[in-house]
Amino acid sequence: MTAPLDIERIRADFPILQTRLHANRVEGGVPLAFLDNAASTQHPRQVIQTIVRVFEHDYANVHRGIHSLSERSTELYEAAREQARAFINAADGTEIIFTRGTTEGINLVARSWGDSHLHPGDEILLTEMEHHSNLVPWHQLAARTGAIVRFVPITVDGQLVVDALDSLLTERTKIVALTHVSNVLGTINPVEAIIEKAHSHGAIVVIDAAQSVPHLVTDVQAMHCDFLAFSGHKMLGPTGIGVLYGRRELLETMPPFFGGGGMIRRVGLGGYEPGDLPAKFEAGTPPIVEAIALGTAIDYLQRLGLEAIHAHEVALGQLAYDRLSAIQGVRLLGPGPRRKSGIISFTLDGVHSHDVAQVLDHHGVAVRAGHHCTMPLHKRLGIAASVRASFYLYNTPEEIEQFAGAVNRVKHLFARKH
Ligand code: PMP
Repeated sequence: MTAPLDIERIRADFPILQTRLHANRVEGGVPLAFLDNAASTQHPRQVIQTIVRVFEHDYANVHRGIHSLSERSTELYEAAREQARAFINAADGTEIIFTRGTTEGINLVARSWGDSHLHPGDEILLTEMEHHSNLVPWHQLAARTGAIVRFVPITVDGQLVVDALDSLLTERTKIVALTHVSNVLGTINPVEAIIEKAHSHGAIVVIDAAQSVPHLVTDVQAMHCDFLAFSGHKMLGPTGIGVLYGRRELLETMPPFFGGGGMIRRVGLGGYEPGDLPAKFEAGTPPIVEAIALGTAIDYLQRLGLEAIHAHEVALGQLAYDRLSAIQGVRLLGPGPRRKSGIISFTLDGVHSHDVAQVLDHHGVAVRAGHHCTMPLHKRLGIAASVRASFYLYNTPEEIEQFAGAVNRVKHLFARKH
């Protein structure tokens, strides 16, 4: 058992959470309830201070100059790589490629591994709940190579039909790519079992971990995945930095994705020879300060403990589920709260999701409305859009009450209009 989170102390680390919004003409404003964490999270003072400190004292380009500042920034940059490695328990630092985020990581695999391994008639297996970042790169790969994209179906309550894999996986399946946690339904997919099945058919597995690494203990060695991608900005870090984990044997045989400075051993007028891992996949000047700040974010999460963070989010999810399911006309998407992460999406009968989000904003509640970059999933659920509230370590039960109370008011406001 891990100790529960001390939310008051945590909130004191996040300056932006003190924000009061004036949209509702309430004297002194209404407190911000930031429930849009699946889109991007806020930053603790520690991360902000790292950014300031590096710019003020340690900044220079990495791996280049033979001067003190460059050595210092290189050391910090490489220390952040080591923190990312330890965070997901990768076997070796060369398996950690810094990217701009999940989207870039998946594109890297599709271009580099995909282009060199796929042939006409080969199959790429995805699921019906994927984010566009884990759909479009594979559609593009299929268009380039003549491969075919297939989908694992989901149940009405938003869970993967895992048994369908037995007929969908064949010797033609070369890649299985799926999200660990759905960014809309919050469903936690049984990735280990899926990876085992995929491997038994000779396919490699790419895990979209944008919504899992920030919230769940991740061990890539225990999971046996081949690639896993995540984003710093969804785990208290800055934008513009992410990680692609790849198994070393695979990364070593793959051609570089981007070409440029930093990724070569030598260059001649007739060609080039790529450098060693991980430099081979980090062409150009990387996001240096962002990577170092991601290291601070990882440190912050590790000190609290991912188990405690997850338990807190499940408790908030349960409360939100109880409150929302008591409101007539609310249709909750996805499985029940015990079987998912802290994400709750819903529709409200007769009210457009954008209107719900706008009224919620007037009550200080920040949520997301729309298709959340999952158009096929929404189509499968028979809806065009939904409202999504997503929780993180600094959210409180009071904010859930504020949110549920505001949804109730939306309902009554629109009931009067119709
Ligand atoms: N996959 C999932 C499941 C996501 O939720 C997101 C972010 N919304 C992404 C991929 C893309 O992440 P990024 O925009 O940071 O590249």
